[in-house]
Amino acid sequence: MSTDCLFCRIVERSVPSTVVHETDDVLAFRDINPQADTHVLVIPKEHYPDAASMAAADPKLAGEVLAVAGEVAKIEGVDSSGYRLVFNTGPDAQQTVFHVHCHVLGGRSFTWPPG
Ligand code: AMP
Ligand code: ZN
Repeated sequence: MSTDCLFCRIVERSVPSTVVHETDDVLAFRDINPQADTHVLVIPKEHYPDAASMAAADPKLAGEVLAVAGEVAKIEGVDSSGYRLVFNTGPDAQQTVFHVHCHVLGGRSFTWPPG
């Protein structure tokens, strides 16, 4: 746990969030600034700064994050209409919170390539 990490604080419930789904190792909660009707963040409860470091250290956990993202899509009712999973990593991708999080975005049509 990193005490100066916002998402670690969300995991320990010292910062409030709207939880959508939870397992022993993974938490899914609504993004505070949603970019689509469905915008949920899926995070491992253990702190890793980005997706690659999580996958390198604990590939099973990385798989669980993706599985929960799929569950969230079902819970939100966008599994059939489609959704986008995004792991912003580093400055060019505009990563702002350095606790790995998978954005689950759905409920509208997205452009490709992204802007
Ligand atoms: P990123 O730019 O990929 O690092 O995304 C960080 C995301 O965290 C942004 O979409 C923010 O809106 C979201 N966010 C920041 N603070 C909170 C919070 N307290 N609760 C929920 N989402 C948050
Ligand atoms: Zn953290």
